[in-house]
Amino acid sequence: MAAFSKKSEQCLSTCHPDLQAVCRELIKQYDFAVLCGHRNKAEQNAAFDAGRSRLIYPQSKHNSKPALAVDIAPYPIDWGNLYRFREMLCRFDALARLMRERGEIESEFEYGADWTSLKDYPHIEIKS
Ligand SMILES: [Zn+2]
Repeated sequence: MAAFSKKSEQCLSTCHPDLQAVCRELIKQYDFAVLCGHRNKAEQNAAFDAGRSRLIYPQSKHNSKPALAVDIAPYPIDWGNLYRFREMLCRFDALARLMRERGEIESEFEYGADWTSLKDYPHIEIKS
């Protein structure tokens, strides 16, 4: 069974409980890395400058405490293989539905992979 690295665990621990809950179920069946949870002001503006985010602080859901967004990637990470990102997100979404039905979480999620303007494949956020 896959397990989170120390870095993944550290990032995940900054996220909303519902994001954590689904990720903790998903890691039991699919190996992935948590790239980012909460981003402080310097980190958010660095992400903006690098083109990894469209938003400046504090507009991103990564800027909330706890973070209302998480970035995850299939492990080992291959940015050229978007099929694997899709597969991971399908599994995440299926688990999230199941956990909502069971009353284990309440949140609905939005996927950066579904955005039409700038696709953000690792990004999952809680719908507001
Ligand atoms: Zn993100």
